[in-house]
Amino acid sequence: MIEKSGTRGRWPWTAGADFLICPLDKSQQKLGGKPDCAVNRQATRTCTNYFNFPASRIWRPVRKGGEKMLAKTQVLTFHGIGVPAVPVSPEESHYFVPIETYRRTIERLPALEQKHGVKLEITFDDGNLSDYEVGLPALVEAGRPGRFFVLAARIGAKGYLTAEQMREIVSLGSVIGSHGHDHVDWRKLDAAGFQRELHDARKKIEDAVGAAVTQAAIPFGALDANVLHRLKEAGYRRVFTSTPGLAYQTAWFCPRFSPANGFDPDRDIPPMFSAKKRLKSSLYAFARRAKFRI
Ligand SMILES: [Zn+2]
Repeated sequence: MIEKSGTRGRWPWTAGADFLICPLDKSQQKLGGKPDCAVNRQATRTCTNYFNFPASRIWRPVRKGGEKMLAKTQVLTFHGIGVPAVPVSPEESHYFVPIETYRRTIERLPALEQKHGVKLEITFDDGNLSDYEVGLPALVEAGRPGRFFVLAARIGAKGYLTAEQMREIVSLGSVIGSHGHDHVDWRKLDAAGFQRELHDARKKIEDAVGAAVTQAAIPFGALDANVLHRLKEAGYRRVFTSTPGLAYQTAWFCPRFSPANGFDPDRDIPPMFSAKKRLKSSLYAFARRAKFRI
Protein backbone atom coordinates (compact mmCIF):
# COMPACT_ATOMS: atom_id res chain seq x y z
CA MET A 1 0.00 0.00 0.00
CA ILE A 2 1.32 3.45 -0.86
CA GLU A 3 0.30 6.53 1.11
CA LYS A 4 -1.27 9.04 -1.27
CA SER A 5 -2.48 11.90 0.90
CA GLY A 6 -0.61 15.08 1.92
CA THR A 7 3.17 15.10 1.53
CA ARG A 8 3.62 11.85 3.41
CA GLY A 9 5.02 9.06 1.34
CA ARG A 10 5.88 11.26 -1.60
CA TRP A 11 9.25 12.30 -3.02
CA PRO A 12 12.06 12.01 -2.01
CA TRP A 13 11.15 8.58 -0.71
CA THR A 14 10.92 5.53 -2.84
CA ALA A 15 7.66 3.74 -2.29
CA GLY A 16 7.73 -0.02 -2.06
CA ALA A 17 4.90 -2.50 -1.65
CA ASP A 18 4.38 -1.72 2.02
CA PHE A 19 7.36 0.41 2.99
CA LEU A 20 9.15 3.67 2.30
CA ILE A 21 12.93 4.06 2.00
CA CYS A 22 14.60 6.75 4.10
CA PRO A 23 16.63 9.13 1.89
CA LEU A 24 19.30 9.48 4.58
CA ASP A 25 20.38 5.93 5.31
CA LYS A 26 18.21 3.94 2.91
CA SER A 27 16.57 2.11 5.81
CA GLN A 28 13.08 0.84 5.17
CA GLN A 29 10.18 2.41 6.99
CA LYS A 30 7.11 0.25 7.35
CA LEU A 31 3.95 2.20 6.79
CA GLY A 32 2.25 2.71 10.10
CA GLY A 33 5.34 1.53 11.99
CA LYS A 34 7.89 3.48 14.02
CA PRO A 35 10.84 5.08 12.17
CA ASP A 36 14.09 3.17 12.42
CA CYS A 37 16.70 5.34 10.77
CA ALA A 38 20.35 4.62 11.59
CA VAL A 39 21.45 8.16 10.75
CA ASN A 40 18.86 9.68 13.04
CA ARG A 41 18.85 7.05 15.75
CA GLN A 42 19.91 9.75 18.19
CA ALA A 43 17.19 12.10 17.05
CA THR A 44 13.94 10.23 16.61
CA ARG A 45 12.03 13.47 16.27
CA THR A 46 14.02 14.49 13.19
CA CYS A 47 13.47 11.12 11.64
CA THR A 48 9.80 11.15 12.49
CA ASN A 49 9.59 14.49 10.72
CA TYR A 50 11.05 12.84 7.66
CA PHE A 51 8.17 10.47 7.52
CA ASN A 52 5.43 12.78 8.73
CA PHE A 53 6.33 16.09 7.15
CA PRO A 54 3.27 18.34 7.11
CA ALA A 55 2.96 20.60 4.10
CA SER A 56 2.20 23.49 6.48
CA ARG A 57 5.86 23.57 7.60
CA ILE A 58 6.96 24.55 4.12
CA TRP A 59 4.73 27.59 4.27
CA ARG A 60 5.66 28.66 7.78
CA PRO A 61 7.94 31.54 6.63
CA VAL A 62 5.04 33.06 4.72
CA ARG A 63 2.83 33.13 7.77
CA LYS A 64 5.47 34.54 10.11
CA GLY A 65 4.50 37.89 11.54
CA GLY A 66 6.61 40.90 10.65
CA GLU A 67 8.38 39.35 7.69
CA LYS A 68 5.38 39.66 5.38
CA MET A 69 5.54 37.58 2.26
CA LEU A 70 8.96 38.12 0.75
CA ALA A 71 12.48 37.63 2.03
CA LYS A 72 14.16 40.99 2.44
CA THR A 73 17.44 40.51 4.28
CA GLN A 74 20.70 40.38 2.36
CA VAL A 75 23.55 38.88 4.35
CA LEU A 76 27.05 39.84 3.16
CA THR A 77 30.04 37.62 3.98
CA PHE A 78 33.57 38.95 4.12
CA HIS A 79 36.44 36.44 4.03
CA GLY A 80 39.25 38.86 4.68
CA ILE A 81 39.99 42.58 4.41
CA GLY A 82 43.14 44.22 3.05
CA VAL A 83 46.27 42.15 2.45
CA PRO A 84 46.21 38.58 3.86
CA ALA A 85 48.37 38.30 6.99
CA VAL A 86 49.47 34.82 5.94
CA PRO A 87 49.78 33.34 2.43
CA VAL A 88 46.42 32.17 1.04
CA SER A 89 45.38 30.42 -2.17
CA PRO A 90 44.52 32.55 -5.26
CA GLU A 91 40.87 31.48 -4.86
CA GLU A 92 40.85 32.75 -1.28
CA SER A 93 42.74 35.98 -2.02
CA HIS A 94 40.06 36.78 -4.62
CA TYR A 95 37.68 37.29 -1.68
CA PHE A 96 39.93 39.65 0.27
CA VAL A 97 38.33 43.07 -0.30
CA PRO A 98 40.31 46.35 -0.05
CA ILE A 99 40.02 48.12 3.32
CA GLU A 100 38.49 51.17 1.63
CA THR A 101 35.82 49.03 -0.05
CA TYR A 102 34.87 47.37 3.23
CA ARG A 103 34.64 50.67 5.15
CA ARG A 104 32.61 52.30 2.36
CA THR A 105 30.26 49.30 2.35
CA ILE A 106 29.55 49.65 6.07
CA GLU A 107 29.04 53.41 5.70
CA ARG A 108 26.57 52.90 2.85
CA LEU A 109 24.41 50.30 4.65
CA PRO A 110 21.89 52.69 6.28
CA ALA A 111 21.23 54.60 3.05
CA LEU A 112 20.86 51.42 1.01
CA GLU A 113 18.51 49.89 3.61
CA GLN A 114 16.36 53.00 3.67
CA LYS A 115 16.24 53.40 -0.09
CA HIS A 116 15.27 49.78 -0.79
CA GLY A 117 13.26 48.97 2.35
CA VAL A 118 15.50 46.04 3.19
CA LYS A 119 17.94 44.88 5.84
CA LEU A 120 21.66 44.23 5.34
CA GLU A 121 23.66 42.08 7.73
CA ILE A 122 27.40 41.47 7.94
CA THR A 123 29.13 38.16 8.57
CA PHE A 124 32.79 37.10 8.44
CA ASP A 125 34.08 33.61 7.65
CA ASP A 126 37.42 31.92 8.45
CA GLY A 127 38.40 34.03 11.53
CA ASN A 128 41.04 36.16 9.77
CA LEU A 129 42.86 38.72 11.89
CA SER A 130 41.49 41.50 9.66
CA ASP A 131 38.01 40.72 11.07
CA TYR A 132 39.22 42.16 14.35
CA GLU A 133 41.61 44.84 13.09
CA VAL A 134 39.40 46.33 10.36
CA GLY A 135 36.01 44.61 10.39
CA LEU A 136 35.06 45.08 14.02
CA PRO A 137 35.97 48.79 14.48
CA ALA A 138 33.86 49.86 11.49
CA LEU A 139 30.90 47.85 12.77
CA VAL A 140 31.22 49.28 16.28
CA GLU A 141 31.41 52.79 14.87
CA ALA A 142 28.29 52.13 12.80
CA GLY A 143 26.50 50.64 15.82
CA ARG A 144 25.95 47.33 14.04
CA PRO A 145 26.54 43.80 15.29
CA GLY A 146 28.29 41.27 13.09
CA ARG A 147 28.61 37.51 13.02
CA PHE A 148 32.12 36.07 13.05
CA PHE A 149 32.43 32.40 12.04
CA VAL A 150 35.76 31.02 13.15
CA LEU A 151 37.66 27.77 12.63
CA ALA A 152 38.43 25.91 15.85
CA ALA A 153 41.81 24.66 14.57
CA ARG A 154 42.99 28.20 13.70
CA ILE A 155 42.23 29.98 16.98
CA GLY A 156 45.38 31.85 17.99
CA ALA A 157 47.30 30.80 14.86
CA LYS A 158 49.35 33.42 13.01
CA GLY A 159 47.02 35.67 10.99
CA TYR A 160 43.86 34.49 12.77
CA LEU A 161 41.76 35.61 15.74
CA THR A 162 42.89 34.81 19.25
CA ALA A 163 40.57 33.72 22.07
CA GLU A 164 40.99 37.14 23.70
CA GLN A 165 39.98 38.96 20.51
CA MET A 166 36.94 36.72 20.14
CA ARG A 167 35.89 37.51 23.70
CA GLU A 168 36.21 41.22 22.93
CA ILE A 169 34.06 40.76 19.81
CA VAL A 170 31.33 39.16 21.93
CA SER A 171 31.63 41.84 24.64
CA LEU A 172 30.96 44.49 21.96
CA GLY A 173 27.65 42.88 20.99
CA SER A 174 28.63 40.71 18.03
CA VAL A 175 28.28 36.96 17.68
CA ILE A 176 30.94 34.28 17.40
CA GLY A 177 29.80 31.23 15.44
CA SER A 178 31.44 28.04 14.21
CA HIS A 179 32.89 27.50 10.75
CA GLY A 180 33.94 24.01 11.80
CA HIS A 181 37.32 22.65 12.77
CA ASP A 182 39.55 22.25 9.72
CA HIS A 183 37.74 24.02 6.84
CA VAL A 184 36.81 20.86 4.98
CA ASP A 185 33.88 19.85 2.77
CA TRP A 186 31.22 18.59 5.19
CA ARG A 187 29.51 16.53 2.48
CA LYS A 188 32.47 14.13 2.56
CA LEU A 189 32.52 13.53 6.32
CA ASP A 190 31.98 10.22 8.07
CA ALA A 191 30.54 9.95 11.59
CA ALA A 192 33.88 10.80 13.23
CA GLY A 193 34.26 13.78 10.90
CA PHE A 194 30.85 15.18 11.83
CA GLN A 195 31.73 14.74 15.50
CA ARG A 196 34.93 16.76 15.00
CA GLU A 197 33.47 19.47 12.72
CA LEU A 198 30.09 20.08 14.37
CA HIS A 199 30.53 19.06 18.01
CA ASP A 200 34.23 19.17 18.99
CA ALA A 201 34.80 22.42 17.07
CA ARG A 202 31.84 24.08 18.79
CA LYS A 203 33.08 22.99 22.23
CA LYS A 204 36.58 24.32 21.48
CA ILE A 205 35.20 27.69 20.34
CA GLU A 206 32.82 27.90 23.31
CA ASP A 207 35.72 27.23 25.70
CA ALA A 208 37.76 29.99 24.04
CA VAL A 209 34.93 32.53 23.99
CA GLY A 210 33.30 31.62 27.28
CA ALA A 211 29.84 31.75 25.67
CA ALA A 212 27.47 29.38 23.90
CA VAL A 213 27.94 28.92 20.15
CA THR A 214 24.58 28.40 18.44
CA GLN A 215 25.22 29.40 14.82
CA ALA A 216 27.31 27.85 12.07
CA ALA A 217 28.57 28.79 8.60
CA ILE A 218 29.11 25.90 6.19
CA PRO A 219 32.64 25.84 4.65
CA PHE A 220 32.56 26.57 0.89
CA GLY A 221 28.76 26.57 1.16
CA ALA A 222 29.05 22.84 0.39
CA LEU A 223 25.84 21.26 1.64
CA ASP A 224 23.38 18.46 1.06
CA ALA A 225 20.43 17.02 2.97
CA ASN A 226 22.69 14.99 5.25
CA VAL A 227 24.82 18.03 6.21
CA LEU A 228 21.73 20.08 7.02
CA HIS A 229 20.17 17.34 9.12
CA ARG A 230 23.43 16.74 10.99
CA LEU A 231 23.47 20.46 11.82
CA LYS A 232 19.87 20.26 13.04
CA GLU A 233 20.63 17.22 15.15
CA ALA A 234 23.65 19.01 16.63
CA GLY A 235 21.30 21.77 17.78
CA TYR A 236 22.55 24.71 15.73
CA ARG A 237 19.85 27.38 15.77
CA ARG A 238 20.88 29.12 12.56
CA VAL A 239 22.96 28.02 9.61
CA PHE A 240 24.63 30.37 7.13
CA THR A 241 25.46 29.21 3.63
CA SER A 242 26.93 30.56 0.40
CA THR A 243 23.67 29.97 -1.44
CA PRO A 244 22.79 33.19 -3.29
CA GLY A 245 19.65 35.14 -2.52
CA LEU A 246 17.83 37.07 0.17
CA ALA A 247 17.05 35.57 3.56
CA TYR A 248 14.08 35.60 5.88
CA GLN A 249 15.46 37.44 8.87
CA THR A 250 14.95 34.70 11.42
CA ALA A 251 15.11 31.67 9.12
CA TRP A 252 17.23 28.68 10.12
CA PHE A 253 18.79 28.46 6.62
CA CYS A 254 20.39 31.77 5.61
CA PRO A 255 21.62 32.46 2.06
CA ARG A 256 24.53 34.91 1.76
CA PHE A 257 26.55 36.89 -0.78
CA SER A 258 30.36 37.06 -0.67
CA PRO A 259 31.86 40.35 -1.94
CA ALA A 260 35.10 39.79 -3.90
CA ASN A 261 37.97 42.23 -4.40
CA GLY A 262 36.20 44.11 -7.22
CA PHE A 263 33.07 44.72 -5.11
CA ASP A 264 31.35 48.10 -5.19
CA PRO A 265 28.44 48.52 -2.74
CA ASP A 266 26.61 51.18 -4.76
CA ARG A 267 26.86 49.19 -7.98
CA ASP A 268 26.47 45.62 -6.66
CA ILE A 269 24.01 45.81 -3.77
CA PRO A 270 20.91 47.50 -5.33
CA PRO A 271 20.37 44.79 -8.00
CA MET A 272 20.08 42.23 -5.17
CA PHE A 273 16.78 43.83 -4.20
CA SER A 274 14.98 43.81 -7.53
CA ALA A 275 11.38 42.51 -7.43
CA LYS A 276 12.50 39.48 -9.44
CA LYS A 277 15.29 38.66 -6.97
CA ARG A 278 12.95 39.04 -3.97
CA LEU A 279 10.34 36.75 -5.47
CA LYS A 280 12.96 34.22 -6.57
CA SER A 281 14.63 34.18 -3.13
CA SER A 282 11.28 33.64 -1.42
CA LEU A 283 10.20 30.84 -3.73
CA TYR A 284 13.59 29.16 -3.40
CA ALA A 285 13.26 29.31 0.39
CA PHE A 286 10.03 27.30 0.21
CA ALA A 287 11.47 24.92 -2.36
CA ARG A 288 14.48 24.29 -0.10
CA ARG A 289 12.28 23.46 2.86
CA ALA A 290 10.48 20.89 0.76
CA LYS A 291 13.62 19.50 -0.88
CA PHE A 292 15.76 19.16 2.26
CA ARG A 293 12.87 18.71 4.74
CA ILE A 294 14.21 21.48 6.94
ZN1 LIG B 1 35.54 29.49 4.87
